[in-house]
Amino acid sequence: MNFLKIIKVLVFSIILIMTTAMIFAEQDSLRISDSVSREQKVDAALWQLSAEARACFLQSFNLATLKFDQALANKKAGEKLAVIADIDDTLVDGVMFTADVLLDGEWSGDAFGASLASDKCLPLPGAVEFMNYVVNKGASVFYVTNRGPSLRDVTYSSMKKMGFPMVDDKHIFIRESGMASSKEGRREDIEKNNKVVLLLGDNLEDFADLFPVKEGNDVRRAAVDQISDQWGDRFIIFPNAVYGDWEKAIYYYDKTKTEEVKMADKVAVFDEYKYTN
Ligand SMILES: [Mg+2]
Repeated sequence: MNFLKIIKVLVFSIILIMTTAMIFAEQDSLRISDSVSREQKVDAALWQLSAEARACFLQSFNLATLKFDQALANKKAGEKLAVIADIDDTLVDGVMFTADVLLDGEWSGDAFGASLASDKCLPLPGAVEFMNYVVNKGASVFYVTNRGPSLRDVTYSSMKKMGFPMVDDKHIFIRESGMASSKEGRREDIEKNNKVVLLLGDNLEDFADLFPVKEGNDVRRAAVDQISDQWGDRFIIFPNAVYGDWEKAIYYYDKTKTEEVKMADKVAVFDEYKYTN
């Protein structure tokens, strides 16, 4: 091999290595799985771990306590007061799972179950105290979650371990096989025998079926405004910047869209709201 050939092989090898590195770097920076993009989740997950987020949770549970006390003071004879709460990122912090995924952990139902069974699965600040407060005042708490049957056992064991009350079949409503994601039917079942005075959630779906994901962000914003007096009254919402229907609404919950098209949808939202319009 003469000197020229050696140079050619070297140059070709360097180009090949650089191209491969760029492809992997791009994949790494854009995707951690088909359903989660890394770049968009990092700051959101850090925010969920912030002191500001803790303050929001404590503020919301303080407000919930105040509203529950008001409902209790106005309780009529024979009424059975109840509180309905979502579990994930309302009562139980899911950021330990997100953090693991963002550091190249596994994104799957099994991995999520393992995160719930770990000692890192913790209640959100104020959650255990509030739910026990309600029960100690003679009312009931109900957990309405879209965790599926495969997470039933770990849901019961972890909720008990964290100290949540009324962790049993009568008070935990998971999303059984074949059940829609809507929680309306489960809420109606609870309301048959209880006066639901408060609903707690991090996603609009936790409160009512009034916020269609497929109709986009503007429609959902308008629907929230239409019941403006409910927020902080009967409905207490908690912040979740990592995931939720808010994210699906940006791309009109069209699962066929590629990541590139979804990104264009995000840009379109900013284009609509920017001040130079
Ligand atoms: Mg939730």
